[in-house]
Amino acid sequence: MNRTKSEQIYQEACEHIVGGVNSPSRGYKAVGGGAPTVMERAEGAYFWDVDGNKYIDYLGAYGPIITGHAHPHIAAAITKAATTGVLYGTPTPHEVKFAKMLKEAIPSMDKVRFVNSGTEAVMTTIRVARAYTNRTKVMKFAGCYHGHSDLVLVAAGSGPATLGTPDSAGVPASIAQEVITIPFNDPEAYKQAMDQWGDQLACILVEPIVGNFGIVEPNEGFIQLVHDLAKEKGALIIYDEVITAFRFHYGAAQTMLGTTPDLTAFGKIIGGGLPIGAYGGRKEIMDTVAPLGPAYQAGTMAGNPASMLSGIACLEVLQQAGIYEEMDRLGELLEKGILQSAEKHGITLTINRLGGALTLFFTDVKVENYEQAEQTDGEIFGKFFKLMLERGINLAPSKYEAWFLTIAHKEDDVNHTLEAVDESFAELAR
Ligand code: PLP
Repeated sequence: MNRTKSEQIYQEACEHIVGGVNSPSRGYKAVGGGAPTVMERAEGAYFWDVDGNKYIDYLGAYGPIITGHAHPHIAAAITKAATTGVLYGTPTPHEVKFAKMLKEAIPSMDKVRFVNSGTEAVMTTIRVARAYTNRTKVMKFAGCYHGHSDLVLVAAGSGPATLGTPDSAGVPASIAQEVITIPFNDPEAYKQAMDQWGDQLACILVEPIVGNFGIVEPNEGFIQLVHDLAKEKGALIIYDEVITAFRFHYGAAQTMLGTTPDLTAFGKIIGGGLPIGAYGGRKEIMDTVAPLGPAYQAGTMAGNPASMLSGIACLEVLQQAGIYEEMDRLGELLEKGILQSAEKHGITLTINRLGGALTLFFTDVKVENYEQAEQTDGEIFGKFFKLMLERGINLAPSKYEAWFLTIAHKEDDVNHTLEAVDESFAELAR
């Protein structure tokens, strides 16, 4: 595969853009280095790079692109916004329509606020929880990514009951001291941390189905335990559904789990590919937000007509009957086919899959927490990633990320992918 132009553009990018990328995960550092593929065009399930190579895309832009790229209904909505004004700085009917759609799909939301990214959404839910509870400490789970605001760029301390340390230069130790990070799916660690910190906690930040160290579902009873002790201690539960909302069905993960968080943060899919975030929850908590209450949050771009129209169009597409069932069917075909190939070639592999989202882990352990995901073989993943790329399959360049199917993927694409997997595993086994 000729990648000359990709390499040239990336080299040029490195002179002008920090690290040559606008988000660190786009680089190929985690898969053994090299120039990331520079894409020029995307349509449906496919990418074309600047050298004219075609790829089946499973990155889905890290989640938002569930309808496939350049979906005509969303493209029409964005075109409408382009010709009727993309940014007003005034209320619009679109934001009301969109808020109502979100509320109808996600019953825990009495009120909504639109922002511009998942980072903003999560950051603001924490502020609102702190304002509402008059407490400062925050609990979260190891390996779950909640954006890049200070409070969530905090690593675990030396044990479940210890305070955090900064996970990025520039995050003050004083802020990290406000955060307790514990392992996911570990009831004992949670109970111990709640004993120690529960009554100082403003909130517990939960990815109800983890998407950031692979797709990891909560073990039976774990999420309920999280809710029960939080309630007992007076801490709010915030769900980060930036990845999960509208990923597995028309609604959020909370509906699937049968649980009701106090606040929820959204992003990704709900923008149909344009920048967006949103948060919402119980009325009395949301009424803490300005202009009704003392917790400040604002945004020049928030609720802009382009993102609103794109998001509405995306949800309209997702309301079509049968689409989630089809992504699940194709996901199952992928899962089974990949596992069969792995067995054939003697590759050690487990797969976590839910619907059209799956993660391959080069390990023989079922991954239920971050530590197990960390211990999977990153070197083999890096080689596999490059072998797949060479065969026209675009995956996320990290062993922790999910493959995302879209409604544009067809069985032929899956079959083609499985051929590429089989060839790649044969190479790996050599
Ligand atoms: N929360 C989760 C679960 C995410 O996966 C991400 C991004 O990957 C974020 C928050 C941050 O969203 P954004 O990148 O839109 O700021």
